[in-house]
Amino acid sequence: MDQDVILQVDDLRVHFFTQEGLVRAVDGVSFTAKRGQVLGIVGESGCGKSVTAQAILRIVPPPGEIVGGKIIYYRQSSNNGAGNVTQTVDLTALPARGREMREIRGGEISMVFQEPMTSLDPVYTIGDQIMEAITLHQKVNKSEARERAIEMLRLVGMPRPEETIDNYPHQLSGGMRQRVMIAIALSCSPSLLIADEPTTALDVTTEAQILELMRGLQQELGTTILLITHNLGVIAEMCDDVIVMYLGKVVEHTDVDTLFFNPKHPYTQALLQSIPRIESTKKERLKPIRGIVPDPYAIPSGCPFWPRCDHYIPGLCDREEPDYITVEPDHEVRCHLYDPERKTNAQVNESR
Ligand code: SF4
Repeated sequence: MDQDVILQVDDLRVHFFTQEGLVRAVDGVSFTAKRGQVLGIVGESGCGKSVTAQAILRIVPPPGEIVGGKIIYYRQSSNNGAGNVTQTVDLTALPARGREMREIRGGEISMVFQEPMTSLDPVYTIGDQIMEAITLHQKVNKSEARERAIEMLRLVGMPRPEETIDNYPHQLSGGMRQRVMIAIALSCSPSLLIADEPTTALDVTTEAQILELMRGLQQELGTTILLITHNLGVIAEMCDDVIVMYLGKVVEHTDVDTLFFNPKHPYTQALLQSIPRIESTKKERLKPIRGIVPDPYAIPSGCPFWPRCDHYIPGLCDREEPDYITVEPDHEVRCHLYDPERKTNAQVNESR
């Protein structure tokens, strides 16, 4: 096992058994997160990025279930000055409400949600909520927990933390509430922080401040961040590596520079063409991705992107699911266009 790896997701499948039918929200997702990196997960709504995060924390809501795959967490602890010991834990094998999973959730792997107002309890002060997170995972008394909570509020840039700690969530602005959420998530020094659309509900100025705060804390504390977003601007700002998801599958994985300057998958290319570029000198119209995300109860056969793809190969893309192909070191794409053994159009037509 690579010492640098903190999380390895292997062929993860999360299905929702609803009355209307089966939804394969996550359908064979695999990726690796390295220690100290910011790994972005990007994709449109409904692509399975948030459900992947819920599966890692074992908080998939019913009627969702993890039906296959593994989530391996490489847990590190110091060995009385003799270096670090790494323990391999399969999170999918642990009881979701068991002691070990509760210790990991919030203590070693924590999460910042999109909407802080719904994540914070309106009837408790923010201090109570940060202190609760601290005392749940650390052996400290009440005054030590309060000191630590004030320290965390100071760390996330909260003004006058000694007074603000006694405020209720409604007394704070959206940006300040998100800072509180980050303080709660970081209060137990987690090894892995999952941030699910952490700035979506904020205005652009506050978004820039929160991203800067997260980047600064990540560099200072060395925390690995799994950043889930639909916003490619946030990805460019924050991430080292990126995975692109579409309808429950990873369709491309590479480093952030390659994603923006040499994207391979037609879906990634289409996503990039649909956002404005500051360096563009020509008056260009933005090109939206044509069509809509298919109904999750009726995902197209073959490559699920084919009804919207400009490079679609009839008879192949709509019939055979593409493999995950390595196009260059550390750059994988799930698309028939890069398959060295792909049938030509003529061969496809012949076999019809
Ligand atoms: Fe487009 Fe075919 Fe590639 Fe899917 S496999 S992205 S339909 S070219």
